[in-house]
Amino acid sequence: MQPAITVHNPAEIDFDRPGKSIYEVAFHYDGTWGNALVPLAVINGTAGAGPGVACFGGTHGNEYEGQVAVWRLMHELDPAQICGRVILMPRLNTPACISGTRESGRDGVNMNRAFPGNPKGTLTYRIAHFVTTHILPLVDVVLDIHAAGSGMQFALCSSFHLVADAQQYQQMKTVASLFDTPFVFIYSSAMASGLLTDQAEAMGKVTIGGEFGHSAGILRQGVQHAYHGIQNVLRHYRMLPGATIKIDPSRTTPPRLVSATSLESYIPAPISGYFEPVLDVGAAVRQGELVGRLYDFERVGDPPLAVSAPRNGYILLQPFQAPLRKGDTMLVVAEEVGD
Ligand SMILES: [Zn+2]
Repeated sequence: MQPAITVHNPAEIDFDRPGKSIYEVAFHYDGTWGNALVPLAVINGTAGAGPGVACFGGTHGNEYEGQVAVWRLMHELDPAQICGRVILMPRLNTPACISGTRESGRDGVNMNRAFPGNPKGTLTYRIAHFVTTHILPLVDVVLDIHAAGSGMQFALCSSFHLVADAQQYQQMKTVASLFDTPFVFIYSSAMASGLLTDQAEAMGKVTIGGEFGHSAGILRQGVQHAYHGIQNVLRHYRMLPGATIKIDPSRTTPPRLVSATSLESYIPAPISGYFEPVLDVGAAVRQGELVGRLYDFERVGDPPLAVSAPRNGYILLQPFQAPLRKGDTMLVVAEEVGD
């Protein structure tokens, strides 16, 4: 065990100290005395020079696979084996993690819409600003581990945005595949703004997200892909010794590269109701194929509404927890893309 150092001023964090330093970075509450104490590990490897990698869990508080995987690595990674710098923040939106909610229980703000942050904003904006100004400039690679929030089920995937820079795109594609999830998902940046990954991409970082679970649980396979995937990234950049590993030996194929980059691919529920899946997430579908039935139990005379695939592809997302509200994204069918 290593005692954490509490800092109230980010200038007190020694980002260059060799070895492993574990901090709790204090951000004062907005409306009362007290602080969010945000865990941060800085590991400066003593095995040699190398690039920098930052890894985040708990950007959304009700997504736990990243919190588990990054926390474990915070304690297990040995600086004597590492070249370069690894920065780990396992519970980035600590108040949201404490309350087990997507948004912060303190100011109601979604961390993944708060970037680049604001030094004079409420708590979540101030943590985001700390990441933008103190963490991202120090690294080359940014990994943000998500888990689909509550409600929806995602096919296990690493993900990245379609970016214009060809070299950045190629690197992101390569690094995303190191998580060995069934899918590598290229997703739309038009659905939302202010993401951690938006900010990191804009700063030119190799930026990877991903959905490693669902429904505010802890999915064994999701933790495996996150925990070993992060280490694969370190091995890929020769920051950890050894070759990258196959994480899921039961699947012989490499991750399938799929894309849904236009907003038309994110289909909103036409009515509030209860979604019965006909297929599992990850299933291959043909355009027009039945994928689910939507029930309006308020209208006893209505049969369930048939939900069909808008195009050929793979079901990346569908509802899991019932009920579903009108307008919520109900279905994403992603298309396979070639190299
Ligand atoms: Zn999330």
